Amino acid sequence: MSAHALNERLVGHLKTLHLPAIRESFEDEAMRATQESLSYEQYLFELADQEVEMRRANRIARFLRESRLPLEKGLDTFDLKRLSHKLCAQVRVLLEGSFLARKENVLAFGNPGSGKTHLLCAIARELVESGRRVLFTPCALLVQDLLIAKRDLRLARALKKLGRYDALLIDDIGYVQQSREEMEVLFSLLADRYERTSVMLTSNLSFSKWETIFKDPMTTAAAIDRLVHHSVILELNLPSYRLEQSEKQRTAEAKNETAEEPDERNHPSANERSKTRGPQSRQVRRARASEGQGTTPAKG
Ligand code: ADP
Ligand code: MG
Repeated sequence: MSAHALNERLVGHLKTLHLPAIRESFEDEAMRATQESLSYEQYLFELADQEVEMRRANRIARFLRESRLPLEKGLDTFDLKRLSHKLCAQVRVLLEGSFLARKENVLAFGNPGSGKTHLLCAIARELVESGRRVLFTPCALLVQDLLIAKRDLRLARALKKLGRYDALLIDDIGYVQQSREEMEVLFSLLADRYERTSVMLTSNLSFSKWETIFKDPMTTAAAIDRLVHHSVILELNLPSYRLEQSEKQRTAEAKNETAEEPDERNHPSANERSKTRGPQSRQVRRARASEGQGTTPAKG
């Protein structure tokens, strides 16, 4: 067989065997192997290694897509310095991912804006990058999906499908006031996942207020019991990140203004402005309102 014919048949076989990385690089690698006097085994290893790496990267890209994680909420954009030493240590352990094998749950509590969603998404993202499957879903959306499945008599199938993931990240449990029917499907899910795969969840409501989610005391106790049995609890008792940022910005702006106006006595217009500004800037008031520090229920 001529070299050209051999090459063509080899490419054909590599296509049939679905080995795109090897197909891509076998010629260049053969040249390198000749130059560097690599053994046959070394050459074959290089090719196999590239194929394995390509498959791993493709698998992770697929897991990331199907995870529905908000990709901007990663560890790279999360300021870990805001967390206490204890929380940091807990996060470090969670990042190792061994809680998934133990089917432990991760429950993040804290006031709105404290970073629960971002932190759990960041942990989940790292887990996906290390080859685990996670699904992120806002609780309200999950409940709606399950209700539709129940109506169509395929709740069992829907629950089974959710069981494919190593962890289910349920964001904002209890934010929406749930009807009894909604509570029931949510409870079915938690009961179904108990000791089978991990549930990661965020909540602005402490357990003492969970009766507003599960309606009656028995169901509430049963749900909490299942979740807590094997779990890591993250208490984010932190001020709102957004609020803190806007306050920092306000302080910086105020500093700038003072630097620009060294002697306010000679600048009556500046004095007038500071009188009308009041104790809080409009921006901070707006941030406070959106954090739900007013009378409206808060979203986290
Ligand atoms: P929660 O879920 O507790 O209500 P989020 O996780 O949604 O809070 O955080 C609110 C906002 O503040 C988000 O935009 C988030 O990215 C940001 N944020 C919160 N904590 C941090 C942090 N430690 N480092 C960087 N950004 C943060
Ligand atoms: Mg949140």
